Amino acid sequence: METPTNELEVVKSSDLKPKPVGDQVPFGTVFTDHIFTMDYETGKGWHSPKIVPYGPISLDPAAMIFHYGQTVFEGLKAYHTEDGRVLLFRPEENFKRLNLSSDRLSIPPIDEEQMLEYLTKLVELEKDWVPQTPGTSLYIRPFIISTEPNLAVGPSQTYKLMILLSPVGSYFPGGLQPVIIHVEDQFTRAVKGGTGMAKTAGNYSAGYQAQANAKKAGNADVLWLDGVEKKYIEEVGSMNIFFKINGEVVTPALNGSILKGITRMSVIELLKSWDVPVSERKISIDEIYQAYEDGLVEEIFGTGTAAVISPVGELNWKGQKMIVNNHEIGELSQKIYDTITGVQYGRVEDSFGWTVEVN
Ligand SMILES: *Cc1c(COP(=O)(O)O)cnc(C)c1O
Repeated sequence: METPTNELEVVKSSDLKPKPVGDQVPFGTVFTDHIFTMDYETGKGWHSPKIVPYGPISLDPAAMIFHYGQTVFEGLKAYHTEDGRVLLFRPEENFKRLNLSSDRLSIPPIDEEQMLEYLTKLVELEKDWVPQTPGTSLYIRPFIISTEPNLAVGPSQTYKLMILLSPVGSYFPGGLQPVIIHVEDQFTRAVKGGTGMAKTAGNYSAGYQAQANAKKAGNADVLWLDGVEKKYIEEVGSMNIFFKINGEVVTPALNGSILKGITRMSVIELLKSWDVPVSERKISIDEIYQAYEDGLVEEIFGTGTAAVISPVGELNWKGQKMIVNNHEIGELSQKIYDTITGVQYGRVEDSFGWTVEVN
């Protein structure tokens, strides 16, 4: 076995792209000048880490990713502070979760600390791409694809890891806006024992049909229920979900089919530090409906990297509408949003040590 080369090679682009102006960038459509790439080969391990100019890659049409979807991804952001620093939010958690997802998909693990170093170098090089308009950020998309040209069903012997950077506008340019969510009682996103806890491609395309139906009926997204009984609440498209009922905050427990959100984890830690009662447990949709009928549902909000907090103004379940807090943002939702975004943009003291500064 050869000694793998783990020295980072940097090839700078000689043709720098113009940067978008202001807050007018549709999510995920503009990319920076460079990407990070690294390759894996059985017997050799992960090797040849590189930062190279952004551009198309070449793959064999028989590459296993195209046929069996053996792939995982992550999503995090870099934020520009008012005093000119660039901060990452809990990036070590993203690489930890990437390895959890990879484990489920039989993809070899990466060295989490080493990856954080490579990511920091990439963001450092692309620092001028971190937008400065309030609410904007640089979205970071690490992902791994299986690349072996082979139609036999089974784990690939070769992989490619890449990191893309994409400047993104504010999720809520006009301030927090409560959304309308359809409670999905036909389609299933994930079941216990499946891949729901992994950030892997197929989970998302499997939700498109339900999301399209929900959108046609005027909803922003769907709230998934458990795949067996369609009874217990799981999560929204790419957000975890929280309910404030009669002064207590509850969120579905991680049961194997729910994505372990880093925003979710941060919200729980924050609420505990504020002495707000919070619990992770099984929550049935009937329980929510009953609490709604009893006038006890005070706030509902989704959590995820994209929006941080997305207040839910209305839930639609089997033709029954639950109007939450008169379609207005709840006090606690707003406070959580202000605190987490405050830490991310350096306006609020980072007492949890959540941020990592890029030099
Ligand atoms: C990424 C994701 C989330 C949110 O996770 P964060 O780490 O908070 O961004 C929730 N649910 C699904 C299905 C996701 O893909």
